[in-house]
Amino acid sequence: MVLVTGGAGYIGSHTCISLHEAGFDFVVFDNLCNSSQESLARVEKIIGKKIPFYQGDIRNKQDLQSVFDTYKIDSVIHFAGLKAVGESVTIPLHYYDNNISGTLVLCQVMQENNCKKIVFSSSATVYGDPHTTPIKEDFPLSATNPYGRTKLFIEEILRDLYVSDNEYKIILLRYFNPVGAHKSGLIGEDPNGIPNNLMPFISQTAVQKREFLSVFGDDYDTHDGTGVRDYIHVVDLALGHVKALQNMDNVQNVLTVNLGTGKGYSVLDMVKAFEKASGKKVPYKIAPRRAGDVAKCFADPSYAFEVLGWRAQKGVEEMCEDSWRWQSQNPDGYDSKI
Ligand code: NAD
Ligand code: UDP
Repeated sequence: MVLVTGGAGYIGSHTCISLHEAGFDFVVFDNLCNSSQESLARVEKIIGKKIPFYQGDIRNKQDLQSVFDTYKIDSVIHFAGLKAVGESVTIPLHYYDNNISGTLVLCQVMQENNCKKIVFSSSATVYGDPHTTPIKEDFPLSATNPYGRTKLFIEEILRDLYVSDNEYKIILLRYFNPVGAHKSGLIGEDPNGIPNNLMPFISQTAVQKREFLSVFGDDYDTHDGTGVRDYIHVVDLALGHVKALQNMDNVQNVLTVNLGTGKGYSVLDMVKAFEKASGKKVPYKIAPRRAGDVAKCFADPSYAFEVLGWRAQKGVEEMCEDSWRWQSQNPDGYDSKI
């Protein structure tokens, strides 16, 4: 049985479907601080099966232990965490507590229950401002904000855990920029309030929920001056987790893997691709650079193929079409009636 922490969230809910399709049994653990149970209800509709769900906080030992008491958990996919960069600057202690203390408690409970396999959601943010692109896993690491530091610290904590006991099987997945949604249009990204990330902002602008997109800087050293990122379809990302679990027993040392496509697209490339996929206009205005943003960030994804046999299959066109289907069918996210 796989324990999926944060499984009601954006990436977690899509991963539940991929786990089901690959024949894994799993239980979801989430405190719903940034999600709603409606995402799981929709996943149940897609897979035609009830999902065992525990509402609890990873910082609470008893909450976690009750799951281990009920199920024989042999591995954990650990998505649970707070992820808003700007908010992490404002309330750093909350981020350190939730993400780092939460992971410590999770690891303690795993240890006490002799569960030694974990896949952790890390991020390309741990590369800081990369000296060159594409980014390989052995590039220098740094962080420019508390959110990024929680990812860096947790990576280190998990490496220490492996040093203390070589029986651990640990995979750190460094995601680039997850976008898109499940083909059904039933699940997708449902940010609270004004979106921080580009893709939900673009799609909310296309449904006229936002007046225009602010493009943060057009004077970067990129092909059109706007920031370049490696956008990866969330379903491809979900499959990366399945591959990680399937390859877990062969893992030596801590395995650290980029999950990206290897292709970089600018903000304006994404606006054009979204307009094409949706048939809607996305009005935008050039705004000043956003503090902490880097010019270019895209992966060298070759190691993921070498060690996990995983490669992203879906291109930007499909990412935009699927985001649009989700957004247009659910203008109010999971509050929308279906
Ligand atoms: P999300 O917010 O949609 O999902 C995270 C889930 O964790 C939510 O359902 C939330 O309720 C839950 N959660 C948070 N703190 C918890 C706690 N203390 N106890 C129990 N549950 C808790 O985010 P997501 O986009 O699905 O991201 C999943 C993971 O991937 C996060 O760790 C995030 O940092 C990481 N990541 C995300 C991105 C991205 O752009 N989406 C990029 C890189 C890494
Ligand atoms: N971006 C933008 N306007 C927005 C949100 C993002 O121009 O409203 C740009 C941002 O500067 C970056 C890219 O879009 O170049 C991706 O930003 P996002 O926040 O989605 O991801 P990250 O910065 O974490 O890579």
